[in-house]
Amino acid sequence: MQNLAAFKDLISLPKRVVITTHVKPDADALGSSLGLAGFLQKSGHQVTVITPTDYPEFLHWMDGNKDVLVYNEGNEDKSAYLVENADIIFCLDFSSLDRIEDLGELVRKSEAQKVLIDHHLEPEDFADYVLWSTEAAAAAELVYDLIDMLGEKEKITIGIADALYAGLMTDTGNFRHPSTTPKVHHIVAELIELGADVSKVANLIYDNYSLQRLKLMGFALSERLEVIEEYKTAFFAISKEDQERFNYQTGDTEGLVNYGLSIKGVNMAAFMRESDGKIKMSFRSIGDFSVKKFASEHFNGGGHKNAAGGVSCESLEATVEKFKKLLTKHSKELKT
Ligand code: 5GP
Ligand code: MN
Repeated sequence: MQNLAAFKDLISLPKRVVITTHVKPDADALGSSLGLAGFLQKSGHQVTVITPTDYPEFLHWMDGNKDVLVYNEGNEDKSAYLVENADIIFCLDFSSLDRIEDLGELVRKSEAQKVLIDHHLEPEDFADYVLWSTEAAAAAELVYDLIDMLGEKEKITIGIADALYAGLMTDTGNFRHPSTTPKVHHIVAELIELGADVSKVANLIYDNYSLQRLKLMGFALSERLEVIEEYKTAFFAISKEDQERFNYQTGDTEGLVNYGLSIKGVNMAAFMRESDGKIKMSFRSIGDFSVKKFASEHFNGGGHKNAAGGVSCESLEATVEKFKKLLTKHSKELKT
């Protein structure tokens, strides 16, 4: 952060703080938000975490979860009031205000000081303070860095350590992605020393599936996975009916896209799911093919080079067709 001294000054007295993160928050979005919230509360600030939408149940264990305000669950007015009257608004794990939907314009209009803490490409220029690095494996890493820069690591409670660990564990694909630097392991070592329980967190996130979720995954793998060998690409397309059949709940298909990448010879995987009349898409790649570029060029999305997402407003069938045509267009990059 360039203006760290000014930031220190800003938070030196108790403030009204709002922390917000992207739609359908994942473990990094929520873990970094609740980790930061816990830290700021310890320093005497009045903090509310507002998420644009709900998030999976396997994240509900985090400290502070019960006080999270889910904007689109009848909390629109309350959220608008808090955003309007905040002294400071932190934006975590997203780089442009459209990623928080209707909340975005409220944040833009608010006179609060805005702080962006993020590791996605091409951040929008709206914040007064920016802690941004695409080298960071997770937003949770940046929150840890911030606390470290402030020299206040002693304020990291077990609950904060668990939440930050969850973000690092999931955003590095369980410490497998190239983003898993020595620094990540050093931070994790410190978090464990501060009380993070790695086995408990992994259990809470990965061993908390409903039977229906596992069956939906099994069904998707056996019936909805297609591999196009020529383009080293695998993709899933999951319809509304498929989801109804297995009583789909938020988060039930999280991680499924990675199974596509686990196939020998596959370098790009896509996942498409009907959701509220749109198609939500996830992309993953190994190596040089930038799914961030692919998602932003063709599916109004973004993310990181090797993990991105987007959306299509066409039908599932039409989206699959468009996707397949695009593979042909990108055949040169995909084949190498
Ligand atoms: P996931 O596939 O796990 O939902 O998301 C992978 C990455 O892409 C995450 O970093 C996420 O923030 C980003 N991402 C997912 N969906 C979208 C989207 O619709 N727009 C943008 N800009 N980024 C997305
Ligand atoms: Mn993240």
